[in-house]
Amino acid sequence: MSAIVYGAGISGRGAAEVLAKHGEQVFLYNDNPISISEELSALLEKNNGGLVIGSENWSALLEKAGLLVLSPGIPTDIENIRVAEQKSIKIISEVELGYKNYAGHMAAITGTNGKTTTTTIVGEMFKRLPVPSAVGGNIGMALSKEVEALPKDSWFAAELSSFQLERVETFAPEIAAVLNLTPDHLDRHHTMEAYGEAKKNIFRLQDASKYTVLNYDDPIVKTWDKDSSGQICFFSRKVQLEQGIFMQNGDFVIKWKDKEYTVCNVKDVKLFGGHNEENILCAIACGFFAGVSIEDMADVLKNFNAVEHRIEYVTTINGVPYYNDSKATNTDSVIKALEAFEDGHIILLAGGYDKMTDLTEMMNLAKEKCDCVILLGAAQARFNKAAIAAGIENIRLATSFKDAVDIAYEIAQKPQVVLLSPACSSYDMFKNYPERGNTFKALVRALEK
Ligand code: ADP
Repeated sequence: MSAIVYGAGISGRGAAEVLAKHGEQVFLYNDNPISISEELSALLEKNNGGLVIGSENWSALLEKAGLLVLSPGIPTDIENIRVAEQKSIKIISEVELGYKNYAGHMAAITGTNGKTTTTTIVGEMFKRLPVPSAVGGNIGMALSKEVEALPKDSWFAAELSSFQLERVETFAPEIAAVLNLTPDHLDRHHTMEAYGEAKKNIFRLQDASKYTVLNYDDPIVKTWDKDSSGQICFFSRKVQLEQGIFMQNGDFVIKWKDKEYTVCNVKDVKLFGGHNEENILCAIACGFFAGVSIEDMADVLKNFNAVEHRIEYVTTINGVPYYNDSKATNTDSVIKALEAFEDGHIILLAGGYDKMTDLTEMMNLAKEKCDCVILLGAAQARFNKAAIAAGIENIRLATSFKDAVDIAYEIAQKPQVVLLSPACSSYDMFKNYPERGNTFKALVRALEK
């Protein structure tokens, strides 16, 4: 029997490589034309497999298949998958494949926002352990491939999206952490319930030897303790918990099984904003249960800068700092970014490819926090309407991305800050959010000169 890997993106290519290296005949299937490396192509062909393009080949492939591995980008309810289900082919996600092949320990992190930041911090903490470690998953490296080279005593920090948590079967990491749940990806999951259920797969099969880390400050995630058989560890920046990870006079505190530790103070860390305090608390939980020392965790946190494109400091021009938050593709992220600047006086650049989510809360906060809102992209008209409805008076409509940056530069004065935090995808003008963020940084740096 052969194996099919559906989707030839990063995860799919990784999964195909792993299966082929294990001697399987693998067909890497993609709906649309795509190219793969010569090495991978040769590897697949060695076992009489290969790259297959286009729907008309699907039924023929299924005839010989025993296993179907889904890339995270493939919705699980499409016709091709339905046909496969009828043929009693085993269907698993790329993450399940990686988990099955991995003999070491794993901390898995999910949530609507903050995954990359938190996973990156946890990855840095794991580097301090006396064993090998790595990060992977949604973070741009195929989990199934990254775990391959790791030995039994290693630790792996996995960033997982809800898509990657569909079609898991035995997945039960030592540490499963959930940061938050707010509306996103409803085009794929259809309802908030379905979105939440997919996320719960991160801890669904844990037993009492494992840890479920949950955000006590998130009204939905807080209630998920009853759905896990793992040891529950809440974290909170608002409540001093009887047991868990929380903040006390700015200190990050661990209280677990009658022991109490102070990791460091919020003033000692470079990341800022309430949302990052949540990410740090969550990361501390993961580090703590993996056995990273308090001193090492403190040292990592003191030296950790923002991940690129996440409220990333660019430079200061005429006393005005510029921040690139291109990764803020939904309104919740923008709200967090606006809140992070406690003193307000923000010149906000927003807009892009419109996700059509409700803008009321974001615009109400923008009215409070922003001295000026510069709108751009395909979403401009709808954003403008929402900004006017929220009573924002200083609205500028940019004719291009560069024009938006130029307007900001012209008007910005101390003590203002310029923040690109679009609440939109970037596809109207860019390939992806990193390209948008890099363009922003290049334009700002050009102005500096
Ligand atoms: P993800 O990988 O889940 O998309 P990132 O760490 O890349 O998360 O951050 C994405 C965006 O979300 C950034 O713009 C950031 O400002 C915002 N953000 C980060 N952490 C949180 C959080 N805990 N809650 C809400 N928003 C957050």
